[in-house]
Amino acid sequence: MISSDTKTYKIVTFGCQMNARDSEKLAGVLFSKGYKEIDDEEKADIVIFNTCTVRENANQKLYGHIGQLKSSYLKDTNKIIGICGCMMQEKDEVIKIKEKYPYVKLIFGTHNIDEFSELIDEVVKSNDRVIKVYDEGERVEKTLPTKRVYDFKCGINIMFGCNNFCTYCIVPYVRGRERSRDVDSIILEIKNVVKDGVIEIMLLGQNVNSYKGRASDKYSFKNNDEVTFHELLNEVCKIDGLKRVRFMTSHPKDLSMDLINTIKNNEKVCRHIHLPVQSGSDNILKKMNRKYDRKRYLSVIDSIRSEIKDVAITTDIIVGFPGETEQDFADTISLIKEVKYDAVFTFEYSKRTGTKAATMEEQVPKDIVKERFKRLLAVVEECSGVNTKKYKGRVMDALVEMEDKENGKLTGRLSNNYLVHFEGDKSLIGKIVNVRLKKSKGFYFEGEYVGIDGNN
Ligand code: SF4
Repeated sequence: MISSDTKTYKIVTFGCQMNARDSEKLAGVLFSKGYKEIDDEEKADIVIFNTCTVRENANQKLYGHIGQLKSSYLKDTNKIIGICGCMMQEKDEVIKIKEKYPYVKLIFGTHNIDEFSELIDEVVKSNDRVIKVYDEGERVEKTLPTKRVYDFKCGINIMFGCNNFCTYCIVPYVRGRERSRDVDSIILEIKNVVKDGVIEIMLLGQNVNSYKGRASDKYSFKNNDEVTFHELLNEVCKIDGLKRVRFMTSHPKDLSMDLINTIKNNEKVCRHIHLPVQSGSDNILKKMNRKYDRKRYLSVIDSIRSEIKDVAITTDIIVGFPGETEQDFADTISLIKEVKYDAVFTFEYSKRTGTKAATMEEQVPKDIVKERFKRLLAVVEECSGVNTKKYKGRVMDALVEMEDKENGKLTGRLSNNYLVHFEGDKSLIGKIVNVRLKKSKGFYFEGEYVGIDGNN
């Protein structure tokens, strides 16, 4: 047994914001049991890997970590190494771990993360292997204690899973079908974190725009008695003490005028929309099963820009999807130039076993993918900073998130998600302050502290 004065844990998180939020819950459970967080995986009594499986090479990263822990396990066989997250929903990976890594004592999946407290007790008590993964299921809504990375901001899951089956994506297979939490339970969770000092939240889901299966007044109704995402957003904004609301991720096919108007009319909703386009070619969008075309996407962008002042729009692009021709790639480049994104997250297509795209003919040779990727980066670089000139000299609100250890400057996040670095006292961390933006550095600003509103 692990003695009470030496009990420590380390959680290693791969992947998206949803996993980051889940890891806060895992940490909360361990913290409430008296474990202390440390940085060193080798020394920790419990190490949990919260995995991602969106990219095939993410799996290799995990195996690297577990391999390295073997010697520290052999020195102390009470050490608990656990693995959870999306990768554990893949049967082949679980079999591989069972066979090749006998010192991994705990395995659970995305559908039973809320059982973590009981599972860890079972392993500690038996010092034996516990493996429990469900294929599918309603994620139990159980309130777990959480230990947040930041005291003043956190993510809030509003839904789990995805129904979209983009042909390159494994998420619907490992996270299951889309399930939305009830409004009351979401509001209660937010009220509780606000009571605890949180002033900014991010509503999380794979496709938040289709919350409760309803996108908007125009698109894909399912249950007319259920609220839509923009209605939920309105309710969330009514919570006293909550200052900022963000959300992630939006699917272009479901982003409605109702949502755009809700953002426009509600200052608490941050001026940032991440709207992954993936490709600028209709041919490729069809093969990706994205269910929108370039025209529809551009019209959504137009509506956002014309209605919401100072909004920043960011996107994801995949280069080298099967069948992508030079013309398709040129369409992507022209779309990037036309939209003038505030940031573009770029990915080289790589086969993900288990997805439809992995079996498609016309896989683009690796050298061509790499060469196009380089050209894409050059265009993204060229476009960076084009939208930021208009902010120069303006005073904007920034939530101070941290102090840069190297230069002692503070880092604040603007409503539109740009970062600003400025001189200031550490006591401002966690507060919303006014900062003058002096110089644009493309993806961030250099600024100067102006003051603080009385309502912090
Ligand atoms: S919307 Fe598409 S890319 Fe996003 S999680 Fe669902 S299937 Fe994957």
